[in-house]
Amino acid sequence: MARKCVSCASAKVMVPFSSETFTIKYGAATTKISGLSGWKCVACGEVEFDARSAKRYAAAGDALVIAQRKELGTELRRIRRKLGLTQASAARLTGGGHNAFSRYERGEVIPMSSVVNLFRLLDKHPELLKDLKAVKTRRPAGSARSTERAKLKTA
Ligand SMILES: [Zn+2]
Repeated sequence: MARKCVSCASAKVMVPFSSETFTIKYGAATTKISGLSGWKCVACGEVEFDARSAKRYAAAGDALVIAQRKELGTELRRIRRKLGLTQASAARLTGGGHNAFSRYERGEVIPMSSVVNLFRLLDKHPELLKDLKAVKTRRPAGSARSTERAKLKTA
C-alpha cells in the first residue's frame, strides 16, 4: 500500500522500515525504544509508526515525563526539608497556591523553572533563605512610590 507524506506532501511515497531504535529526549533524560516499525518519508524524514509502534513510542514518552516529574518532586522535597520549611511556607515563598508544593513533590505538577532554580540555589546556599524571607516581607514597589509622591507633595 503506497503512503504519502502528510508533512511535506511530497509526491514520493513513504518507505517502510522495521526494528529501528528511536530516542526520546525530555529535559536532561533520554530513553531508547527499539524494535519500532512504520514508514519514513524519503523527502523530509517524517516518520509514521504502525499502530503497535505508535502505542509503544507514546507510552515510553509518557513514562519518561512521569519519571522526570517524580525525580524533580523528590529533589524539591529533599531541599525543602533541608531548609526546614513546611510545604505551606515553601509555597508562600515561591508564590504558588497553598497546596502547590505537595503537588510538586508528588510529581502531579511540574513547577515553573524559576521555582526549581530558586530551590537549587538555596540548596547550595541555604543561608540565603533569611535574605529571601526579608525581601518577601518588604513593601511592594507600588506603595513605596506612593510614599515618595506623598513626600514630594509635602516638600
Ligand atoms: Zn515528507
